[in-house]
Amino acid sequence: MRTEMLPASDPAAVRLAAEVIRNGGLVAFPTETVYGLGCDALNPEAVARVFEVKQRPSFDPLIVHIGALSSLDRLVHAFNPGEHRLMDAFWPGPLTLVLRKRENVPDLVTAGLPTVAIRMPAHPVAQALIREAGVPIAAPSANPFSYVSPTTAEHVWQALGDRIDLILDGGPCPIGLESTIVSMVGDQPELLRPGALPLSDIEAIIGSLVCRGGSDRRPPVPGRLARHYATRTPLTILPARGARPLRTGERAGLLAMSDPVSRNGYAFVEVLSSSGHLPEVARNLFAALRKLDALGLDRLYAEPCEEQGLGLAIMDRLRRCAATIQSEEPSL
Ligand code: AMP
Ligand code: MG
Repeated sequence: MRTEMLPASDPAAVRLAAEVIRNGGLVAFPTETVYGLGCDALNPEAVARVFEVKQRPSFDPLIVHIGALSSLDRLVHAFNPGEHRLMDAFWPGPLTLVLRKRENVPDLVTAGLPTVAIRMPAHPVAQALIREAGVPIAAPSANPFSYVSPTTAEHVWQALGDRIDLILDGGPCPIGLESTIVSMVGDQPELLRPGALPLSDIEAIIGSLVCRGGSDRRPPVPGRLARHYATRTPLTILPARGARPLRTGERAGLLAMSDPVSRNGYAFVEVLSSSGHLPEVARNLFAALRKLDALGLDRLYAEPCEEQGLGLAIMDRLRRCAATIQSEEPSL
């Protein structure tokens, strides 16, 4: 199959993409977080193809994207006041809420869970596509499972360009990190994955959240698998900004948070933001990891950033990228 890549600025391309979705096809499209690989969330065969194309294990549930609150009625049971306040404050935007699902949401979408993860994206192309398609769109990131998420149409093309029906090119994603996932279905509100919406913004609305790690979760949340968002080249996080490479005799690449940077000992350096501005770091992170990964280096080193605001999600992704392959197995 030869995948078509069309400019998202062309309304005819968005209409065609919506038709592909309605007919059970797969469309990669931009959101404010990363590029998604979308299909009709209520069509189990289409959902099965998303899993197959991504080589995604079936225990990894998908996020369902909606365009309007009115779509919630057919997908989930009544939600509580806290969930309502979060929707009010942050939708459309990079917050995913785990809610109690209705029967017509296919089990494949939710990996058999009684809950479904829902998000209302703010990106105008994502909104137009959902509106035109007239169905909720299930969409994981448009990349092979466990690799670095795509933030440009070109990234999608490189990995999936012969396996999906259409790519809508809407330019680079404005945020560049996946959504924050919150669940309020248990006893206490819980942060399931740090992401593009800072934790402090959420806590300002509903109070403090519990943040349990990946190991005590059942079933596992794949965005929380130890090794995820990973480059093929091994990556090590430096103990501090400006630290020298930890081993000698390697061709090493450095992922630097800001300028100035000491290039000593590195074959290649990528600076994520000259001023260390975290939104710019986030926006450039995945593209920089891909660029370094393509150079055939022995090892990548990443400078750490402070775990405040977006820094929490940035360090979460770097740690998962750095985790060893041996710890990839989910802990059940
Ligand atoms: P991705 O779209 O690849 O970034 O992954 C979506 C994330 O949402 C995964 O980490 C899923 O495990 C998580 N997720 C989706 N549905 C649920 C759910 N019902 N409960 C908990 N986490 C979920
Ligand atoms: Mg993903």
